[in-house]
Amino acid sequence: MRFYTINALALVVFFGLMLAGFFGDIPAWLYVLFVFIWVLITAIGSFQIKLNYHFQSLNHNYKTSENCISITFDDGPNPEFTPKVLSILKEYGAKATFFLIGENAERYPEIVRQIIEEGHTIGNHSYSHSKNFGFFSAEKVTAELKKTNSILKEITGEDLKLFRPPFGVTNPNIKKALKNTEHFSIGWSKRSLDTTNLSEEKILKRITSNLKKGDIILLHDSSVKTIAVLEQLLLTLSSHKLQSVPVDRLLEIEAYA
Ligand SMILES: [Zn+2]
Repeated sequence: MRFYTINALALVVFFGLMLAGFFGDIPAWLYVLFVFIWVLITAIGSFQIKLNYHFQSLNHNYKTSENCISITFDDGPNPEFTPKVLSILKEYGAKATFFLIGENAERYPEIVRQIIEEGHTIGNHSYSHSKNFGFFSAEKVTAELKKTNSILKEITGEDLKLFRPPFGVTNPNIKKALKNTEHFSIGWSKRSLDTTNLSEEKILKRITSNLKKGDIILLHDSSVKTIAVLEQLLLTLSSHKLQSVPVDRLLEIEAYA
């Protein structure tokens, strides 16, 4: 059930209600209920990238023949935590993907270079990561994506093709922007909630229970909890004979144009 199907269905129900209201008595609560359900479905669809409600995101690759998963980190580079994440990944021989905020990349270009040099992949995570990103016009989203791409091209020489929507929010404007910029939208199948006040044990359990090859894990290299969870996660992976690879390898797509 996608955005347009739901809206077409809602229109049919709406006109049905109007017609029924014309010939008989329709209680007001029925209209309220109708609007409430529509708003609820739209909100769930917009906040759950996995549902592909507005457009298709790449959320996993369960068809992979390799014993691989992908760990992804959002919101960096961060001068305090990204170097720690990199050194843990190196210790365990794991490769990951970092979805970088343009504003942060501009401030810490040397960390961006280190990420690339150590064999990880980078992607675009908007320029400002504004709380209002979900309300931006298609033009504004396009401008943010292009600006971040050009900053990272300057630093690394690479033209990024991967994009992760801030907060995993999707809507018709972001869909339009992605059509302009031709980025792949990368989602996840395992959300850690590592930036909430959940305990480290709970965060680890969320990502490791039912973990299977082809999964994409969402973490943030901007929080202290992630550091503790990452080490435990990598130990769990090795006991399951699973290896973390950059998301472009897992999905068999190109990370750079
Ligand atoms: Zn983010």
